[in-house]
Amino acid sequence: MNSLPIFAGVDATGAIRFVGDVPRGAECGCRCVACGSALVAKRGDVRTWHFAHEANQERPDCFAGAVNLLRRIAIERLQQHEFPALPIYRSTVTTPAPLPQLQETVTWAVGEGKVEMWEPRLPQHAPVGILRLSSGTAVRLYVEVDTASTASLRPSPPDEGILLVNVPLPPDGEALKDLSSAVQHIDTAATLQWIRLPDANAKIAEVTEQVKERAKRLQYEREQTARPLQSAAMQPFSPGTLPASAEEVDQSPWAAWRKPRSAFVYYGLQDGSAWVMFTHGDGRHVMAPWPNPEDGWDEALPARLGEPDLQLGVYVLKDQTQAMLYLGRMRPKVRTASNWAELVAIRSSA
Ligand SMILES: [Zn+2]
Repeated sequence: MNSLPIFAGVDATGAIRFVGDVPRGAECGCRCVACGSALVAKRGDVRTWHFAHEANQERPDCFAGAVNLLRRIAIERLQQHEFPALPIYRSTVTTPAPLPQLQETVTWAVGEGKVEMWEPRLPQHAPVGILRLSSGTAVRLYVEVDTASTASLRPSPPDEGILLVNVPLPPDGEALKDLSSAVQHIDTAATLQWIRLPDANAKIAEVTEQVKERAKRLQYEREQTARPLQSAAMQPFSPGTLPASAEEVDQSPWAAWRKPRSAFVYYGLQDGSAWVMFTHGDGRHVMAPWPNPEDGWDEALPARLGEPDLQLGVYVLKDQTQAMLYLGRMRPKVRTASNWAELVAIRSSA
């Protein structure tokens, strides 16, 4: 798997000892953390310093044991220092075949996060703690060394995020010869990576619909261009005007001013009411109570999220992201629709 030697073991007190931190030979009384065998510190001039098994019965999982010690040190670094700044979440949205392949990257600024709890026990490939984001979302924290696959990092509740701190293994044993080198390696080489962030789900769904709509239009335009002249002459087509088959007829109550072909994001709440988020023709994000505005709908949201426009019958959002987070906390059913017919179908299946 790699050419790294066994770089660490534990001494009689259970403390982690690196080969460069102990005297040459067996004096430190170190043992292999995987098989329990006595270790001998080899600190020669030719080969990288390493621990040898006294009776030479080293097994493949002995190296994994040393790697797990490195993981423990990485976790201790996180526990003892201020948690690093959280990376921006990124997700790439791609159109499904047979649509023309378009893609777009969705980014989400995560904001602050605080460690709420560290797990008292640290089994391998299990979360080591919980981060609480300023949005209120809980994030399971994983620390893994040289992880090739994130497939095993799938804890239960889908409304929780997953953040992975990945510590790569260095190319040679030099960076792991003693504790201070190992710590320096962790501090410089570890990366934080989002595996899942539910806060971004509604935005991802919305962008997915937008990209799909763009791809559908592109496909339609390609088909028009590819059509033989003869039939084109029979069906006059002027660029910019799509015939009714491609240009959906907007029968929504907001048809007069909704941005054409903008996506609807439907938030069905537990009490049976629902909000629909979409875009005004002038680019503002709005949110409408739907299908039936209940009395007092214009007082349902905190003022920091937006202002009700009584004439349009919608909230004009100040900050779409904050509004998504606010609604997301009510554990709604979130769906997206690219046109009115799809939106009606979502409602009737609710
Ligand atoms: Zn061993």
